[in-house]
Amino acid sequence: MSNNPKGSSASEVYIDDSATFESFQLDSRLLQAVKGFGFQHPTLIQSNAIPLALQQKRDIIAKAATGSGKTLAYLIPVIQTILDYKKTKATSMDLEENDTLGIILVPTRELAQQVSNVLEKMILYCSNEIRQLNVSADMSNSVLTSLLASKPEILVATPGKLINILETNISSISLDELKFLVIDEVDLVLTFGYQDDLNKISEYLPLKKNLQTFLMSATLNDDIQELKKKFCRSPAILKFNDDEI
Ligand code: ADP
Ligand code: MG
Repeated sequence: MSNNPKGSSASEVYIDDSATFESFQLDSRLLQAVKGFGFQHPTLIQSNAIPLALQQKRDIIAKAATGSGKTLAYLIPVIQTILDYKKTKATSMDLEENDTLGIILVPTRELAQQVSNVLEKMILYCSNEIRQLNVSADMSNSVLTSLLASKPEILVATPGKLINILETNISSISLDELKFLVIDEVDLVLTFGYQDDLNKISEYLPLKKNLQTFLMSATLNDDIQELKKKFCRSPAILKFNDDEI
């Protein structure tokens, strides 16, 4: 299943050479973007999470070491799901102009920038349909307001910044049509004291049956059990410990 020697360090990428990105039935523009990274095969977390999310529409809680490829494990399902959704809405007027379709929450502004950079490369070939904005980037409220006015489909944010936007009149964004919510590095999000902000954010979300969620973490503990109840519908739990690979 994996071509990695046993006992590899946690920072190595665990490739699943029995799987291919083509087998995930992705939009050709997404495949093209993956090729741009030069990746031949998905990592183990990617080959497990992507089909569960896209073909089975499952929510996912994943515990996997740093460096295991969690970013694309959630970015690919987020982008593909939004492309599919936009296709179904192409001929109808249902899609409100300011509806946000995907949100990626991260614990720090640095991580927001890193994720946003990878996301920008992943949407390179479908930028006419999907745009993204790192709302936690260093900018004034007036710049943020004008960038949000262009209605990016995907927002990357720390929980604090997202709740700030939702609760003030910086800009009117609606989460009524949100299709995908990711909380990356959940353990750190909780360590950094964002529990209250997450609770508040949950009040703005659409019904669970209309929303897919990914919780990604390097550890799983009781705090995450609470988030599971609040955000997920019978999630698939994926655990990849170093000694299990
Ligand atoms: P994590 O979030 O689990 O810490 P990342 O998503 O940041 O991991 O990925 C870790 C590294 O592995 C990055 O440098 C990324 O470019 C690389 N990577 C991701 N997916 C693959 C892949 N399928 N093949 C090879 N390298 C990959
Ligand atoms: Mg990561």
